[in-house]
This record gives sequence, C-alpha cells and structure tokens, in this order.
Amino acid sequence: MTTATELYARALGLIPGGVNSPVRAMKAMGLGAPIFAARGDGAYLEDVDGHRYLDWVLSWGPLIFGHADPETVEAVVAAARRGTTFGTATEAEVELAAEIVDAVPSVEMVRLVSSGTEAAMTALRLARAATGREPFVRFRGGYHGHADPFLSEAGSGVRTLGIEAGGEGRVVDFNDLDGVERAIDGAACVFVEPVAGNMGVVPPAPGFLEGLRRLCDESGALLVFDEVITGFRVARGGAQERYRVLPDLTVLGKIVGGGLPLAAFGGRADLMERLAPAGDVYQAGTLSGNPLATAAGLSVVRRLTSDVYDELERKGERLDRGLTPFGRFERVGAMATLFVDDYPALFRHLLERGIYLAPSQNEAMFLSTAHGDEEIDRTIQAVGDFFA
Ligand code: PMP
Repeated sequence: MTTATELYARALGLIPGGVNSPVRAMKAMGLGAPIFAARGDGAYLEDVDGHRYLDWVLSWGPLIFGHADPETVEAVVAAARRGTTFGTATEAEVELAAEIVDAVPSVEMVRLVSSGTEAAMTALRLARAATGREPFVRFRGGYHGHADPFLSEAGSGVRTLGIEAGGEGRVVDFNDLDGVERAIDGAACVFVEPVAGNMGVVPPAPGFLEGLRRLCDESGALLVFDEVITGFRVARGGAQERYRVLPDLTVLGKIVGGGLPLAAFGGRADLMERLAPAGDVYQAGTLSGNPLATAAGLSVVRRLTSDVYDELERKGERLDRGLTPFGRFERVGAMATLFVDDYPALFRHLLERGIYLAPSQNEAMFLSTAHGDEEIDRTIQAVGDFFA
C-alpha cells in the first residue's frame, strides 16, 4: 500500500470525499487516490510516495514562477516573522493595491479578499447595488467560484462531476453575442471570463468582448471581467490589456496572491466607493489583505515585466507546434488546453510517465517560467507516444 492510498482511506472518513476541493479526488480520471503532495520545486511536484511529476497544473494557476519560488518563499518567511495576521491596515496592502491599479488598465480602486469566490460574489453584489437591478447574464461552462448565484450550468468541477446545481442569472453560450443581446435587458451586469478557462481554454471570438462592451453600454449593465485565471497570466494587465476592452469591474485571484490565499476585485472609483465603509455595500474579512499573502503577491507582481510575458509566449508557441497535431489545441498566452476524445486515458498515460496534466478537460494547463524547453519537449514526446 502506498502512503497516498493510506492517507486517502483515512481522509475519506474525515473529509467529505477525502479532499478539500472536489476535482482533486481525480475521480473523473479513474484514479484510485488523489496525488498527496509532499513538496514542489520549479516545474516539479513530488508526492508522499516519492513520485516526481512534471506539473502542468501548478495549483490551478497561481504559480507563474513555479513551485517554491525562492524569492516568494523568502518574502513570506520574512513577513511571517513580523506577524501572521493583524486584522488592521498594513503598508503592504497599500503597495499591492498600487501595483494592481498600475497593472490592470480599468482598475482605479481595488479591495483585497482571500479567495476568487469571495471576490466574484462581492463584485456581483456591488453591480446589483450600483444598478439597482437583480438579474445578470453569465455563460454556460464559466466558473466564478462557488457562491450560490454562479453554480447552475457552471464549468470546472461542477461540469466535470456532472452536478446539477441551482443558481441565478441568465445563462447563455460563450461567444454568442446574439444570445447576450436577447438576455441583457434589465440586467445588472454581464459576468464573463474574458478568456474562458473552466470549459478548457476557449479564446473569445473576434469582436466578442467588444460586443459585450457595446451591449452593456446600450443597456446600462456593468461589464464584469472575471480575470481570476487570466489576470497577470495572458498579460500583466490580464485579458483587458491583451484584447483592449475595458470592463467596469474586474475580479482577480491566483497569480495576484503569489500562491497564498489572496484575491481581489476592483474597478472604476465611483463604483468601488459604494463599498463600506466609504459606501453602503457591505463586505468584510478577518484575513483580508493578510500580510503573508500580500508579501507573496508583491514579490510576484513586481517581477512580472514584459520580458516574462515574452518568454512565456515563446514557450507557448513551442507547445503549439508540438501539440497541435494531436487534437484541438487552444492557447492564450500561458494558459492552454489540448482537447482530445479520450482525455482520461491521455491523463493516465502521462501520469504514468511522470507528467501531471489537469485532471479534467474542463481545466487549463499552465505555463510557468520554470517550464523549460526540455519540459515542453518531454511533454510533447509523451503525448505523441500516446497517439502512436
Ligand atoms: N473565477 C475563476 C475564473 C476561477 O477560475 C476560479 C477558480 N478556479 C474562481 C473564480 C474561484 O476562485 P477560488 O477557487 O479562489 O475561490
């Protein structure tokens, strides 16, 4: 028996399904137990049984410099020595807010929270308060965290597990501008991942984001970009920088927290100032702006220069050339998905060869600066062997 098998058996009696986030169980991939991580290093993840995996999941996106990035670790350790939480204002929060406002084109003010779920949930509350409207538009297969309004027909684990959850909102197909036009009347907002990342990676069709901006302006709905995945990933300023379409509100997570629990939402100052204590829309958090998380976020965001994105783009193109022959390969910057007929079989084939791909076709593979040409070529070779 492996340590992972033993741990999983124990976990099943203590934690529902043995995991703290559903897709980790890897049930849809037909695995007997989750990967129990022991440590990570750059592009590699090691489990409790000593298996070493080339990691294309990277904790689902935050680790743009790879696992245990030394500068991030140093920043967190130094912050921890000064205190792990204060529950009062800190200098690092102001500095991280300034970095976000500088980086993300439409964001004039920002609030820090602890998860993408919280950020998305509050952005919806704010959009409803600002417009005085309740309905909203979102997209089939999108994912905005697990707050009640967003769950029906959601992507990510909801779709992977085939769960029929309740939810709110008028749900239309991604890239279907006509559908949005039919649904938008009286809506508080259109909530969208500007590059879909939770139905596998699906880029916006040409003109789609511009069309959303126009429809929102015509109807008085706010445009909300959920850039939890795309923020600091498809460009420093996220998809709004890459596609030059500015939303009213932006939801951020993952990279902005440098691998610690931190997320954010921001936007036009007049909207953001509706939040308490400046305004009457309530939102709060014991650990919001946590000093370890802001230290990690600052350490990462300050190093994200255009050189980093040039490097990631070059690596992405190498992946394009290698993987395109094997299926529909969709990539925007440092996020990608290879769509194949039997994804679980490909996943298991790669895992047996020490390559850890996202355990669902509805997720993305993430490039980091720690993934070199050798890692990319080894992955292409192993995918090729699967189809040989
Ligand atoms: N929005 C998007 C686009 C996401 O991909 C995710 C999580 N993968 C979330 C929101 C929720 O973030 P969290 O898991 O931090 O709650």
